[in-house]
Amino acid sequence: MAQQEDIFKKIVSHSKEYGFVFQSSEIYDGLGAVYDYGQMGVQLKNNIKKYWWDSMVLLHENVVGIDSAIFMHPTIWKASGHVDAFNDPLIDNKDSKKRYRADVLIEEHLAKIDDKINKEVEKAAKRFGEAFDEVQFRETNARVLENQAKRNQIHTRFAQALNDSNLDDLRNIIIDCEIACPISGTRNWTEVRQFNLMFSTEMGSTSDGAMKVYLRPETAQGIFVNYLNVQKTGRMKIPFGIAQIGKAFRNEIVARQFIFRMREFEQMELQFFVAPGEEMKWFEEWKSIRMNWHQALGFGAHKYRFHDHEKLAHYANAATDIEYEMPFGFKEVEGIHSRTDFDLAQHEQFSGKKLQYFDPELGKSYTPYVVETSIGVDRMFLSVMSASYCEEMLEGGESRVVLKLPAALAPVKLAVLPLVKKDGLPEKAREIIDNLKFDFACQYDEKDSIGKRYRRQDAIGTPFCVTIDHQSLEDNTVTIRHRDTMEQERVSIDSLERVISEKTDMKYLLKEIAK
Ligand code: ATP
Repeated sequence: MAQQEDIFKKIVSHSKEYGFVFQSSEIYDGLGAVYDYGQMGVQLKNNIKKYWWDSMVLLHENVVGIDSAIFMHPTIWKASGHVDAFNDPLIDNKDSKKRYRADVLIEEHLAKIDDKINKEVEKAAKRFGEAFDEVQFRETNARVLENQAKRNQIHTRFAQALNDSNLDDLRNIIIDCEIACPISGTRNWTEVRQFNLMFSTEMGSTSDGAMKVYLRPETAQGIFVNYLNVQKTGRMKIPFGIAQIGKAFRNEIVARQFIFRMREFEQMELQFFVAPGEEMKWFEEWKSIRMNWHQALGFGAHKYRFHDHEKLAHYANAATDIEYEMPFGFKEVEGIHSRTDFDLAQHEQFSGKKLQYFDPELGKSYTPYVVETSIGVDRMFLSVMSASYCEEMLEGGESRVVLKLPAALAPVKLAVLPLVKKDGLPEKAREIIDNLKFDFACQYDEKDSIGKRYRRQDAIGTPFCVTIDHQSLEDNTVTIRHRDTMEQERVSIDSLERVISEKTDMKYLLKEIAK
């Protein structure tokens, strides 16, 4: 674990050093849990968004996109339930004065018990070798059974407390499990309180009567209130989906772990409208489509898992998260929810407008049900950085840091490097860039030794380095170096576009998931 935390620290400092992520307002000592994306970060982030957007809007005939405003009529947040119920249960440690989410403290405690059980199983697997029967071991080993029973009991109590919004019992679980503050080490806890996560501001001057408006805490409501506009103008037939990428804001109290939990972040959401009764089928379908999207990036299936919710939100009848194994454990990257007709029905009630669909096949009107997939761009970014960051020992005792980014997501696709700064090589390099810049993000670099230049490109994840030498002037060939294998091959300049596009074009990644 300590080693993993170490890696996380390295990823954070690497992100800064190479222009991926900066702390917001850094010269003023920063603003808590707000971050800026630098020259490399913005390209990686744009590529992640494109991967998502194209996978939704290009690959599904019945999915269209919108871009709704951040400000919306304040009644929308009353109707959606956010004004009354978008709360986190908070608890403070009186000695360290640190604030925590009570639910997160308990979840972490449960995860520790899971770890204990898994360690026991691993130990036994090593001891018994080939003959090991894991299922039997889990069912019979006294220590495993004892821990499992303990875990189940806490888990049941926890789910019950969340569902009943029973703050006292959440606190009691923390006390009974002897959960201590990681900073002070004490168990001197305050009561648990609810805290609303929405930011508000005022719109209009006071003379016109200023109106309290909210910064949206999710992009989904912008889709719901446009449901009818899109359905009618796009002549959409159910089932169909509306996709959107945009900023969301939450006044997160416990905002640590870099860009994992931010106060201003970006979401990519799909609301998929279906006939009542069809929602479970579509819930399963979208679970599989979304998992496939993640796994096509090639980080390994074992890095992902589904995690069903302990507590269903007030609007949902089924919910699961896709978790990715970050350096600090398995964490939610995406939520998939079956939202029933809750949102549209609420907006019908609060706006007094009908938001129904006339189903020609059934010959009747209904308020559609909704299956939602909601992924945070920034958490996705963090998972991509975590999966790609790699320290390698090379022959001769040297080492390198390389970001093994999926080529389609890499901020720079190729670097063009003249071997020396003279003899017409820089001009030849510029000529190549002038030809390729319409297709690929290219970088020119002539400073330092070629080895150092390779290292700089490895550190930002550039899949290809193209080196121009004296032979290039004679026979129009260059060497192309592959980032991950460091192998070099000599190819003709005319073939560069094809060779690079075969690996970096988003289209191939999309074809992978459309199979
Ligand atoms: P958590 O339990 O971690 O607070 P959530 O369940 O409240 O997350 P959702 O409301 O389901 O999150 O939001 C959908 C997605 O938006 C999440 O899976 C996550 O990727 C992203 N997201 C939510 N809150 C934040 C945040 N504060 N910073 C960055 N991304 C976020």
